Amino acid sequence: MVHKEPVIIIGAGISGLTVAYFLKKNGCNVTVLEEDSEVGGTMKTEFIDGYLIETGPNSALETTPLFKEIIQGVGIENEMVYANETSNKRYILKDGTLHAMPMSPPAFLKSKLLSAKGKLRVAGEFFQGKAYSEESIAQFVERRLGKEFLDYFINPFVAGVFAGNPEKLSVRSAFPKLYALEEKYGGIFKGVIRGRRERKQRAKSGEQSKESAKMFSFKNGMQTLPKAIAQFLGDDIFLNAKVEHVIPIRDGNKCMFTVSYTHDGVSEKIESHNVVFSIPAYHLSEIIRQIDPEMSKTLSSIYYPPVAEVFFGFKKEQIKRELDGFGYLIPEKEKRNILGTIWSSSLFSNRSPNDFVALTTFVGGARQPEICNLDDEQLSNTVLDELKSIMNVEGKPAFTKINRWQKAIPQYELGYHKTEQAFEKFEQNFRGAFLCANFRGGISVGDCVISGERVARSILEQT
Ligand SMILES: Cc1cc2nc3c(=O)[nH]c(=O)nc-3n(C[C@H](O)[C@H](O)[C@H](O)COP(=O)(O)OP(=O)(O)OC[C@H]3O[C@@H](n4cnc5c(N)ncnc54)[C@H](O)[C@@H]3O)c2cc1C
Repeated sequence: MVHKEPVIIIGAGISGLTVAYFLKKNGCNVTVLEEDSEVGGTMKTEFIDGYLIETGPNSALETTPLFKEIIQGVGIENEMVYANETSNKRYILKDGTLHAMPMSPPAFLKSKLLSAKGKLRVAGEFFQGKAYSEESIAQFVERRLGKEFLDYFINPFVAGVFAGNPEKLSVRSAFPKLYALEEKYGGIFKGVIRGRRERKQRAKSGEQSKESAKMFSFKNGMQTLPKAIAQFLGDDIFLNAKVEHVIPIRDGNKCMFTVSYTHDGVSEKIESHNVVFSIPAYHLSEIIRQIDPEMSKTLSSIYYPPVAEVFFGFKKEQIKRELDGFGYLIPEKEKRNILGTIWSSSLFSNRSPNDFVALTTFVGGARQPEICNLDDEQLSNTVLDELKSIMNVEGKPAFTKINRWQKAIPQYELGYHKTEQAFEKFEQNFRGAFLCANFRGGISVGDCVISGERVARSILEQT
């Protein structure tokens, strides 16, 4: 069935653009309204003085064949680049020294990241029972794999992915695949062994786990993808179009939504039976306050900690260690002022001018939100001090650019399954409304693409 009336999509981040792409490709009219003057949302790329600077994601993991489908569909397959082989190597800081993260059982046995007792405790995972009540990722990991593994593997990993606090994030909502291993197979190791066949099945359909998926970006950075989708959408996308509110009126078993927005400062209205909300929860909370105060409150309670990205360019000779990997993450126990650093120019070429390297350091998050209050000079000095001590960097950076996110990444905290139920209830109450953004179904770029395609499919299937 071809929809004549456009589906209205609010927000042109990767979630909203994915919905729009799959709808349009399947013959459905769309109208995308984006507040900003450019597309991409969190996913933006800047070019300054020969550096390529990502303001949000530095790369994505090819966890789904949907990436290839979109990339080919919008004709940018020649732009796609995979990360250099060395990117598989990641470091973790322990007692002031960077240790390679073990990627195989023999490497794990040799690693200095855990004591012999800590390693034995990991092996004991096999014999742990199931949890009786909802757990944070910290509780889950400490119970199953021990405190050392939590401190030196999971704590830094959670900081790297969610900029989050492992004591607060729900294992069920934030790490559903890990949670499912215990639910379905009774444990992580048991799940890894017994779930082999299922994983092979999924791999055949092109799906890859986050551990095995290849890391990619584009020659001209991550924003290449949203820009190319926007080009495919052409006149169906309106920039500088800020949605103020959405009013539904019952129309049979569905709703007719009136979307009010300002476009280049002029007030406009548009109507449709289908509206996709692909904006951050705190913005959505304002838009729907009038029609569903309870849901509005639920959305505004989702915590988004601040994150600052400090991008430095150095002359190669200023770095006194080899940049042979993705970079490093820092466990909270190490008591540092940064979360970790990506060695951006080691991942992809053309991230820095010749003879220079690019380093992107993440600061703040749920661990240390207050550090994001430092002014630019204080922040850059704080990061530089840490790089000097951790990476043996000499002198001052040749180039500095700081990007700040006051509200960076939604935290799927304990009890989030109730929030997820509230999303479902909202969609049932207002038939034709869809919630599709990184506060639901996962925060990675791949998760957003999977959620976006799923929403497009359900809109196409409902008629
Ligand atoms: C610093 C940082 C680093 C990250 N690194 C990675 C990484 O390396 N790999 C990875 O996979 N993921 C990473 N992520 C996560 C990932 O980038 C995001 O989860 C994802 O891009 C979110 O996409 P989205 O479309 O759901 O939301 P957004 O990107 O937030 O897009 C929402 C859009 O809605 C628009 N909007 C808001 N309000 C309105 C309104 N009223 N009217 C119209 N438009 C509106 C906004 O302007 C925006 O364009 C990172 C995130 C951050 C913040």
